[in-house]
Amino acid sequence: MVQSAILGFPRMGVNRDLKKATEAYWGGKISQDDLLAEAKRLRLAHWKIQKDAGVDLIPSNDFALYDQVLSHIQDFGAVPERYSSTGLNTVDEYFAMGRGHQKDGVDVPALEMVKWFDSNYHYVKPTLQNNQNFKLASKPKAVAEFNEAKEAGITTRPVLVGPVSFLHLGKADRGQSVEPIDLLEKLLPVYEELLAQLKQAGATTVQIDEPVLVLDLPSKTKAAFKTAYEKFASLGDKIPQLVFTTYFGDIVHNLEAVPKDVYAVHVDLVRNPEQLETVISALGPKTILSAGVVDGRNIWKTNFKRAIEKVEAATQKLGADRVIVATSSSLLHTPHTLASEKKLDPEIADWFSFASEKAVELAIIAKAVTDGPASVREQLEANAKSVEARATSKRTNDPAVKERQSKISKDDYNRKAEFATRISEQEKKLNLPLFPTTTIGSFPQTKEIRQQRAKFTKGEITAAEYEKFIEKEIEDNVKIQEELGLDVLVHGEPERNDMVQFFGEQLKGYTFTTHAWVQSYGSRCVRPPIIVGDVSRPSPMTVKESKYAVSVSKKPMKGMLTGPVTCLRWSFPRDDVHQSVQAEQLALALRDEVVDLEKAGIDVIQVDEPALREGLPLRSGKEREAYLDWAVKAFRLSTTGVENATQIHSHFCYSEFQDFFHAIAALDADVLSIENSKSDAKLLTVFVDSQYPRHIGPGVYDIHSPRVPSEQEIKDRIEEMLQYLRPEQLWINPDCGLKTRQWKETKEALQNMVSAAKHFRAKH
Ligand code: GLN
Ligand code: ZN
Repeated sequence: MVQSAILGFPRMGVNRDLKKATEAYWGGKISQDDLLAEAKRLRLAHWKIQKDAGVDLIPSNDFALYDQVLSHIQDFGAVPERYSSTGLNTVDEYFAMGRGHQKDGVDVPALEMVKWFDSNYHYVKPTLQNNQNFKLASKPKAVAEFNEAKEAGITTRPVLVGPVSFLHLGKADRGQSVEPIDLLEKLLPVYEELLAQLKQAGATTVQIDEPVLVLDLPSKTKAAFKTAYEKFASLGDKIPQLVFTTYFGDIVHNLEAVPKDVYAVHVDLVRNPEQLETVISALGPKTILSAGVVDGRNIWKTNFKRAIEKVEAATQKLGADRVIVATSSSLLHTPHTLASEKKLDPEIADWFSFASEKAVELAIIAKAVTDGPASVREQLEANAKSVEARATSKRTNDPAVKERQSKISKDDYNRKAEFATRISEQEKKLNLPLFPTTTIGSFPQTKEIRQQRAKFTKGEITAAEYEKFIEKEIEDNVKIQEELGLDVLVHGEPERNDMVQFFGEQLKGYTFTTHAWVQSYGSRCVRPPIIVGDVSRPSPMTVKESKYAVSVSKKPMKGMLTGPVTCLRWSFPRDDVHQSVQAEQLALALRDEVVDLEKAGIDVIQVDEPALREGLPLRSGKEREAYLDWAVKAFRLSTTGVENATQIHSHFCYSEFQDFFHAIAALDADVLSIENSKSDAKLLTVFVDSQYPRHIGPGVYDIHSPRVPSEQEIKDRIEEMLQYLRPEQLWINPDCGLKTRQWKETKEALQNMVSAAKHFRAKH
């Protein structure tokens, strides 16, 4: 019999209940006991959903109040001294590491948080010392949650982050030089003890996540797999059977590191179906294959026919008893349930499947393979019908879009002239001083703006009233910028709720949900729009506001757009056409917008691509180059429709370009603004080394904090930048948009920034 398994379930609950509870706890509105009771309620509810769906192997310890890696840090006694010495109780110490703690005389910043592989989830980095020791907590969470489920009558499969991944994903603490992987021998006894406790509690199998196996790994890390899993194998039945679990990529390049005598190996067959045969041939003689065929990263209904074919390809080689059907990864990256979506068009809703629905899908696939298709004929037929309906729907296919894509020519990717010609035409038109000052686009999104938007959405004010309000905001923004003496102005983006949603709402091919939240980090959730079909732009999206801004100022005005790659990455993409095709469609829509802005008298246009880097495939090499190739092409396609005298800007919220600088250069943007105030100015070396000819505005101050930088600080920063960049090349701007700031600090900071720029202008 083929069993079904879920690798992890979203934690937030139907109505983002966990978010509400943790935030209420942080705000002092509920007690710690209340919070823990709510967490318990959610865990139980989630186990029940999976059980009722008919899933055989249900995870526990996939839950976390903030982040699962952070929970391991605490359970393994790897809490840095600055937290353990605070005297905070376990829960508060945990949150202190996750989000910092500044109360009652305790003042500690958070541990570093970074993206979980190529997803939009963020984990807390294990932060390790040279003399690091590990010690299992007295009541390990994994054991407690296994017991909790058992009491509720549900036998679960506990999930642990494996020792190699835990260390590889960690780093040496500030001032420490330890290579985390060198701590393996010290860490393994903690796993042994934990696994033994789980066995005693009654766990027969444990899912041990080793997702780092899909990365390019140093030989030392590969060798660590051998050390760790040989050790576990030697423990025999003192510990549960291990399901060695990988996801988000293929493991073919690291096959020698896959343990031979492990009970089961899980691979992601949604992302890399082609690895199936190679992985099967490398399995130990009794090892079970866990086939990840239900997408843990997306919202589409599983194509049963295709999934069943994949599973049967495995059962034919291994027999039904050696195959498990599973989600490709944890379902953490999918929303809770489709049942909450009351406003979706039924035609489209029929194409979706969120976490709760995916649980049901898994059980059906397992039954189809075990008992034959006849046992679930109705479900298979209904699924085939949905799949067919989606594939042939007018909403999926727009012949006009495809026709336009087929006509893209080489010239469409190139500006009319080289940068040297462009910049001299731009300078004539814009007449900017040396060290021109600008901002990244948004100004404070005040309470009033949010209130008016909410009123408009609810129909409490008319479109005309709302428009008038926005115009007034734009006018105020412009006036403030003129008073500050900024050189290139922006309208301030008061009309935008979110930099992707705003565009998605105006593009054909997108749809929106009301409850499809996905955890991004801690209590923060995002609700990505969904690309359901071919994308096009029925009419201009930003021209009205930008044009209005131009009408109330004589200064150059910068139009503001979100780039094609960022629109794609911060949405749920389609799974039926390649992402490059979707990026190209978005690019064409944006190209029209750029040209329309130019026609409306906007001489500077910024196309933001902050998500370009996070889309980088996890491994270097061919796949990464292919991605960069289509991503760069999409950006160019969206920006090259303009005249030489129109200046194209782009923006990135980081300055680590070393790994893919050739792509940044290939964007051919006239001006780049990048984050730099929190990074080492040395990172600007890449621009020097490549003799980058175009203009750059490395951020001169951090916009994430209300702190106002002094004029002197900004001057020092500019001085540093001038060690790397030529004066004619340097723009002066903040790190990123100002929407999360208050007006008071915004004005003060920008005033200091403008004064600093003037100082250098006088000097050069
Ligand atoms: N133009 C956007 C803003 O200023 C850019 C935001 C971003 O880079 N994340 O808000
Ligand atoms: Zn930014």
